[in-house]
Amino acid sequence: MSNFTKQDLERESQSELGQGHMCTNNIHPHHLKIYRIKKIDGKAQQHWELFSLWLATAEDVANGDAEREDEVLNLSSIEIEFCPFCGTQLSQS
Ligand SMILES: [Zn+2]
Repeated sequence: MSNFTKQDLERESQSELGQGHMCTNNIHPHHLKIYRIKKIDGKAQQHWELFSLWLATAEDVANGDAEREDEVLNLSSIEIEFCPFCGTQLSQS
């Protein structure tokens, strides 16, 4: 299982992350992560983002598609107001 941490996600996304929404309806918690964004490039933020994170597996390394396990193959995010898994409105205050 991946050891990719919140700190790793902060470094990779160049964002400072606040509270997370750890949703039990999310069946891919290592791939899809929801966090409140505190800062991007040092500028204060208040919104939430859904991150989609793909990390290299042992198979990717064996296939030559990555140099090491847990290497970030792809990371993207979108701004959200509601959790797409449970429908909860994410706190704006
Ligand atoms: Zn949720």
